[in-house]
This record gives sequence, C-alpha cells and structure tokens, in this order.
Amino acid sequence: MKPPAFDYLVATDCDMAVAALARAGSEAKILAGGQSLMPMLNFRLLRPSILVDINRIPGLSFIEETPDSVRIGALTRHFQLETSPLIAQHFPVLSYAVAHVGHLAIRNRGTIGGSLSHADPAAELPMMAVLLDATLRIVSATGSRTVAARDFFLNALTVDLDGTELLTEIVLPKLPAQTGWGFGEIVRRHGDFALAAVATTLTLSGSEIVQARIALTGVGPTTLRAAEAESLLVGREFDENLSRRAIGAVREAISPETDLHASADYRRHLAGVLIGRALSAAWRRGHAG
Ligand SMILES: Cc1cc2nc3c(=O)[nH]c(=O)nc-3n(C[C@H](O)[C@H](O)[C@H](O)COP(=O)(O)OP(=O)(O)OC[C@H]3O[C@@H](n4cnc5c(N)ncnc54)[C@H](O)[C@@H]3O)c2cc1C
Repeated sequence: MKPPAFDYLVATDCDMAVAALARAGSEAKILAGGQSLMPMLNFRLLRPSILVDINRIPGLSFIEETPDSVRIGALTRHFQLETSPLIAQHFPVLSYAVAHVGHLAIRNRGTIGGSLSHADPAAELPMMAVLLDATLRIVSATGSRTVAARDFFLNALTVDLDGTELLTEIVLPKLPAQTGWGFGEIVRRHGDFALAAVATTLTLSGSEIVQARIALTGVGPTTLRAAEAESLLVGREFDENLSRRAIGAVREAISPETDLHASADYRRHLAGVLIGRALSAAWRRGHAG
C-alpha cells in the first residue's frame, strides 16, 4: 500500500523541528531512518498530517567520549554504533547486540533515536539503553529535559514523549573496571525480531560480584530489568547453584505473551536458558579483565 498524503518538512536545525512539532501537535511525526515509520504509514496504521524530517539536522549524529560517559546523537545509525571503535572499547555488549538488529540495509538507515522512540517490545536497543542505565535528552519548543531510560519505556510502542518532543541524545555512563558482559537472543530467522533476548553485565571485585544488571526484551510489552535476579547475584561468587536461582528469578519477573511466533511458556523457558548462558559469559569476561 501507499502512505496517506502528508505534508513534508525538512528541518535544518532542532529549533525548526520542534517549532513544527509544536505547531502540528499530535498530528506530526518525526522521520528519522524511516525503517519503522514508513511501514506503519504504508499499512495506514498512522495518518500524520506532516512528517518532520530530521535527517539533515547537523550535529544530531555523533559518538563522543567524555571523562565518565559516551554521548550518542539520536540520529546515529545502527551501523555506526556497530562499527564504532569507541563503542567497542567502552560498551562491547552494545557493539555485539546492535549487529542483531534486522539486516545490514536496515542498520544502514535505522537510528538509535528512532529505535528508542518507536519502542518495539522485542527491539534490542531499548534493552541496551535500560541495561546500560542510559539517560535520554529530550527537547521541545518550551525547553529541554532528561529522563532515565528505565522510566522512558511505558508500554508497547509507547514512550515518555508527548508528540511535540524530539529525542536528541543518549548518554551512557562508562562501566566500572572488571565488568564482564553477556548477550543472547533467539530468532526464527536471521534478521527477525527476537522471540526472547537478554543482556547482562557483572562487575567483579576479585571473585565477588559487586554489581549485576540483567535486561530482557521480547518477553513482555516493554523491555525490563530483572531487579530480583540482580540482587540475588550481588555479594556472591557465580556458580551453578547461583545461576539456577537467577534463572528462576528471571522467569518469575517476566510476563511473556503467546502469539503467532511462540507461546508464553516457550518464551519464559528461552529467557531462562539465555540468561544462564549470558551470566556465565559475563562472569568469564569479568575475570579476563
Ligand atoms: C525488516 C525489518 C526488520 C527489523 N528488525 C529489527 C530487529 O531485529 N530489531 C530491532 O530493534 N529493530 C528492527 N527493525 C526496526 C529498525 O531497528 C528501525 O530502524 C527502528 O525501530 C526505528 O528507527 P528509525 O530511525 O528507522 O525510525 P523511524 O522509522 O524514522 O521512526 C520510528 C518512530 O520514532 C519516532 N522518532 C524517530 N526519531 C525520533 C527522535 N529523534 N525523537 C522522537 N521521536 C523520534 C518517529 O516519529 C516514529 O514514530 C526492523 C525493521 C525492519 C523494516
């Protein structure tokens, strides 16, 4: 199908974009990579009166290091994240995870800001933002604000943005030394959205886990952290018994749904298997440095 008719504005700076959004209110849609928006328009799931194209706003696509964080512009393409030496150095779990997003053609166009704002329940980048305790910077015609990624994802395809706001930047605090990571996902075919996906980081002090993070996607309406399982791990050495307990806590924490692709029980089973493997990998990598 073809999209319904819409007006089209190429914004050349953020002020121009947010002024257009303020004028149109909930009638406008931001166009970033178009990889989720265009299919939704073509299926006529959305009928915006105007598209505000942000692709030509200079300064929205960057990956920059500060002493304690890495800042990522909202228009940074998935492929740029995947191939960035800075991301590989500070967040290898993100480099690895982003390579699982769709196919290369999609990663060439899709942007981190678009993925977070779209908030597909099985998307990898929202899970990464929640895992890595990202802070999101948002601007509108009336000012700017920041929101923690953990508070941003409200429901399936629903985030803390009011339709006149533009996500401009994602800030990732650097990970402590001796942090290992793990990631796992199951898809039916390469490039599909995950039936279930998990990511974890374990920060060690000697042989003790001093910080644990576990995030999941594809197993509920929105990405989430498994707080109970995280606190089980802290203050302990990782072993088979602890792994089994963490797997149990992860399965308790999620409420997957049955759909065309998999049953809720199968998704719950997968999440447990994946997190068991990811925790072992994180423990190994944490010891390796
Ligand atoms: C065949 C196919 C397979 C895919 N597989 C996967 C997958 O496995 N995993 C995965 O995570 N994703 C997958 N995707 C989605 C892909 O990652 C998209 O790129 C992403 O979800 C949206 O990013 P975008 O830049 O294309 O955003 P767009 O499609 O341009 O926009 C998406 C939504 O976000 C809003 N928006 C965009 N940028 C901003 C901003 N800066 N501030 C506020 N709102 C904004 C738009 O208005 C729109 O509502 C797939 C897509 C396709 C077509």
